Amino acid sequence: MKIPFVDLHIQYEQHKQEIDAALQRVIEKTAFVGGNNNPFVKEFEEKFAEYCGAAFCASCGNGTDSLEILLKCFGIGEGDEVIVPALTWISTSESVSTVGATPVFVDAHPDFYTIDPKKIEEKITPRTKAIMPVHLYGLPAPMDEIMDIAKAHNLIVIEDAAQAHGALYKGKRVGTIGHAGSFSFFPGKNLGAYGDAGGIVTNDSAVAEKFRMIANHGQIKKHDHRMEGRNSRMDGIHAAVLSTKLPHLEPWTQKRIERVELYNQLLKETPVVLPTAPDDVRHVYHLYVVQVENRDAVYAKMREKDIEVLIHYPNALPFLLPYKEKHRSEDFPVAHTLTQKILSLPLYPEITDDQIRYVVSSLIEAIS
Ligand SMILES: *Cc1c(COP(=O)(O)O)cnc(C)c1O
Repeated sequence: MKIPFVDLHIQYEQHKQEIDAALQRVIEKTAFVGGNNNPFVKEFEEKFAEYCGAAFCASCGNGTDSLEILLKCFGIGEGDEVIVPALTWISTSESVSTVGATPVFVDAHPDFYTIDPKKIEEKITPRTKAIMPVHLYGLPAPMDEIMDIAKAHNLIVIEDAAQAHGALYKGKRVGTIGHAGSFSFFPGKNLGAYGDAGGIVTNDSAVAEKFRMIANHGQIKKHDHRMEGRNSRMDGIHAAVLSTKLPHLEPWTQKRIERVELYNQLLKETPVVLPTAPDDVRHVYHLYVVQVENRDAVYAKMREKDIEVLIHYPNALPFLLPYKEKHRSEDFPVAHTLTQKILSLPLYPEITDDQIRYVVSSLIEAIS
């Protein structure tokens, strides 16, 4: 049995009529590009802000741009440092470097894999301007601790919520706890467009306004350029797809959680280390990441069986080529150890019981 890591096609089949109709509306109106009052983009921004319980949502071309534009909104650049987790996708640190600042890595928490709040303060210097926690794999980062540190040191908090649409931290949607939250709507994310797309939520009108300006050539209206910005706009087609999908996000998230419960139940008597979450949060399981011994051999055996397992991520960021000169593995012992053991199993709302049972029996065979 071939098991894909995610299957976006099932979702399209199940909602084909409403998605095709939405695409058709955009084409009929030729409302292709965001930025200048595109009705589809505006509609999605309003709906997503409401879903998150934020005052504003502003969209852009992708979730890496949204981090970068946010950093610019807060005036972060040359000479500044931004604290980021060691274990995350490269966008988190890349955006910091692109604006001219320096990413400063903090090790992962051994149980939750998100940034370890106890290791943040030792990395703060007079140059530190912001902390960028990541709600990794769909699990909210420890925001209370992070906000306390930020207040004590007068730092901006930008939440990278690219993997955590709809996750809750003590009843609040992620993205609304810090100064702003950044989302990716890459097709494979929990809420995905039909191509690259991104955006932010914030309760600060000045941040939302500046974000829109930067993302659309520094204009506040056509040909009224208040600054140099860039071209990073959400396309009408993506906005229409996202608005169509948004009402389904809650049921899809519920299904992800149920699917994970089945995985957990089937794996609980095995040596496989299962994901855990602190109390008071809702993990939305963008990824189902377990730990196994001899991970590379297990990975190969699963692949031989046509089960598309992946690794998020094979290297912690400090050890990647652009950063590794400055770092030693002893400085990030948790992230370093995790990257040798973690394995992401196939997960999407529509994955069946039989498919999960097959993944689990294959995994048990592979580890024994
Ligand atoms: C996906 C992702 C992003 C941004 O992704 P884009 O592909 O640029 O939309 C940023 N941070 C994390 C943690 C991500 O997983």
